[in-house]
Amino acid sequence: MPEFEKYIRRVEPYVPGDQPNFPDMIKLNTNENPYPPSPEVQKALENCTLESLRLYPDPTSHKLNKAIAERYGLNENQVFTGVGSDDVLAMCFLTFFNSSKPMLFPDITYAFYPVWAQMLRIPYELVPLNDAFEIVPEDYYRENGGIIFPNPNAPTGALLPLETIENIIKSNSDSIVIVDEAYIDFGGKSAVPLIEKYDNLIVIQTFSKSRALAGMRIGYAMGNEKLIKALNDVKYSFNSYTMNRQVIEAGAAAVIDEEYFQSTVNKIIATRERAKKEFAKLGFKFKDSMSNFLFVTHPEWSAKELFEALKEKHIFVRYLRGERTDNYLRISIGTDEEMDALFEFLGNYKK
Ligand SMILES: *Cc1c(COP(=O)(O)O)cnc(C)c1O
Repeated sequence: MPEFEKYIRRVEPYVPGDQPNFPDMIKLNTNENPYPPSPEVQKALENCTLESLRLYPDPTSHKLNKAIAERYGLNENQVFTGVGSDDVLAMCFLTFFNSSKPMLFPDITYAFYPVWAQMLRIPYELVPLNDAFEIVPEDYYRENGGIIFPNPNAPTGALLPLETIENIIKSNSDSIVIVDEAYIDFGGKSAVPLIEKYDNLIVIQTFSKSRALAGMRIGYAMGNEKLIKALNDVKYSFNSYTMNRQVIEAGAAAVIDEEYFQSTVNKIIATRERAKKEFAKLGFKFKDSMSNFLFVTHPEWSAKELFEALKEKHIFVRYLRGERTDNYLRISIGTDEEMDALFEFLGNYKK
């Protein structure tokens, strides 16, 4: 083995969901929005001229950060944007989790967290969800090098009330607590108002789900200006121009169109509530999800077999291996028509 092999950083990479591409497919496997982004995004892209691409973009992505800050009642120096929340989360791990004490996150959660911890050699401990697949807040009342969890959690969809989140933040004043709110717009209460009260809180959101811009790659962190400054210092030491010209224009336009945002989110919530009834009728068990997906299991069917059978019909859902989640499928909420096609298939399955 050549000497250099010893010095290569070896990582077990995160495996993103499949991105199949069939004209007839029903794609319910990566929690994308079934509706297109705001029409304002199209206009913003048309305003971005070919000539302008000759020049570097604004390294502060001022227009986008300002739109986000105004939407959440924050100052611009309390907002950090990145190439999807995956980029923002990776920057946060690099910036905030440098303790020799282990950081804490749930055993069943976003599968990217252990990957960043391993890549950056951050010690961590998995905190098991209880048997009902719930986060037990008291499990986080102990010494640690940082805490992260999604709210609602993924892939369970379970939402913690804001008081519980506040208790976790309050009980960990010596650590940074990150709340990953990728799905908060689908019915949860955001922790953003707690930023004024706690200097150890970072809230992360994304344009990929509720704002229908997964293809654009925009995520953001919100927190007090000291933490945001630390994130920016790391970003500028890595890559100053993360947000390109089209992204800055399109992102700002999407945030400003609040009415369109509310109307699509409400449609998805209504479809989800109907889907809960349909899945229950079919004998599925699932937690009361407050996200744009349901994490379902059927007492008589193998999740893996059902996943394969759906795939053959070009209905794509997510099968996540894992000891405790082996017989579950995570199914994104599509349009009403897409969900009807899914339920028709399930109604005839194994008959
Ligand atoms: C989808 C998702 C993200 C990442 O989304 P981006 O597309 O990178 O913004 C982050 N956290 C959770 C829990 C998610 O489900």
